[in-house]
Amino acid sequence: MLHKNIAINKEGHLTFAGQDVVSLAEKYGTPLMLLDEDRIRENIRVYKKAMTECFGEGSFPLFASKALCFKGIYRIAKEEGIGVDAVSVGELYTAEAAGFDLSKAYFHGNNKTDADIAFGVSHGVGTFVVDNTDELLALEKHLSEVGKRQRVLLRISPGIDPHTFKAVVTGSVDSKFGSPIATGQAEEITRLALSLKNIDLVGFHCHIGSQIFDHEPFTEAADIMLHFIALIRAKTGFVPTELNLGGGLGVRYIESHPHIDYAEVIGEMAAIIKLRAAEIGIDLPKIVLEPGRSLVADAGMTLYTVGSIKSITGYKNYVSIDGGMPDNPRYALYESPYTLYLASRANAEANFPCSVVGRCCESGDIIQEGVTLPKPVRGEILAVAVTGAYNYSMASNYNRIPRPAIVLLKGGKDSLAVRRESNEDMIKNEV
Ligand SMILES: *Cc1c(COP(=O)(O)O)cnc(C)c1O
Repeated sequence: MLHKNIAINKEGHLTFAGQDVVSLAEKYGTPLMLLDEDRIRENIRVYKKAMTECFGEGSFPLFASKALCFKGIYRIAKEEGIGVDAVSVGELYTAEAAGFDLSKAYFHGNNKTDADIAFGVSHGVGTFVVDNTDELLALEKHLSEVGKRQRVLLRISPGIDPHTFKAVVTGSVDSKFGSPIATGQAEEITRLALSLKNIDLVGFHCHIGSQIFDHEPFTEAADIMLHFIALIRAKTGFVPTELNLGGGLGVRYIESHPHIDYAEVIGEMAAIIKLRAAEIGIDLPKIVLEPGRSLVADAGMTLYTVGSIKSITGYKNYVSIDGGMPDNPRYALYESPYTLYLASRANAEANFPCSVVGRCCESGDIIQEGVTLPKPVRGEILAVAVTGAYNYSMASNYNRIPRPAIVLLKGGKDSLAVRRESNEDMIKNEV
């Protein structure tokens, strides 16, 4: 199977985290998002352990909460003792509502509004990751008005291409994110930050992209950042104590993707980064990583009920399901690959080539094209694996389709974490 939390039971039903997904679909209805909480905790522990062992005490992961945002995930982050990365007041608000201590939050984003800045400062967000000069000055102005200081990292763009999908590349020079080293703007914003009274600059941040399968783009970025740190030290005397290398480690979505041992990749990363720091002659700052996808993706599975099955004579077969781009827009946005299972008869011979499509009035509403499944029958349950990241958090109400429920699976038990949206929910703000 694709991941160890997916199997088939003696009824021929697909199981996830040891539980029969056909029974879960019956109990909670579809579309349904399942989350394997044990798996999320295991993924977090792998990162935590590897980071302390390889980079030393004080190095830790933050969960990039844009990958999956609901109260339950912040509760898990809190219990596992990791930080979170948030990009909006909405995410910070959700974290706080879950009892997450915002002093362990990092506030990202390339365009924090004055209201965002005021919220972050007044709610005690531990670290602001400042993207640009305008934001830095706006933050300083607010801090001087309220008489506070703020711990700050500066987002720097190292200018590398992580050889991944273009639309998610964010570390290159021409980018809406951060200040580039190549143009001198990174040095400029550092000097400005050091000159401001209420800004407590502790280090730098970079994030190069997503779905990266090996350590090389990270060590390449780290190398550039370490040289930048050496340059800043030489020119200003400032020695950063924290270097945040962002998120982006990949996840196995389909059989042809490799299995990734995150502990091993972090170990390789650390060995090279330590060596480079020694060569350059700087003390290695505390390293922070911000995984999103790799903490939650393989902990998710989406269940749908099959509706119409259609063969366009001379063309192809369409299997329609009761969800689609409103709950998983990733094929529509990026043509992302997914593995699909006919959960109701998971052992049946897969001999029906088809496109699995959603229910929206939109030809691009596709979950996956060119898959081969056992020929489904209306009413059967279809499962899409590895949907824990960037599905629920990207979900919309397009075509006024309510967002699915989230059910947490933990220690063989299931519990409702997010109720299915209702039609009333969708009109509740309409006056
Ligand atoms: C998206 C993002 C992450 C997480 O990326 P993943 O690929 O999900 O690990 C981390 N940091 C920043 C700044 C991001 O924008």
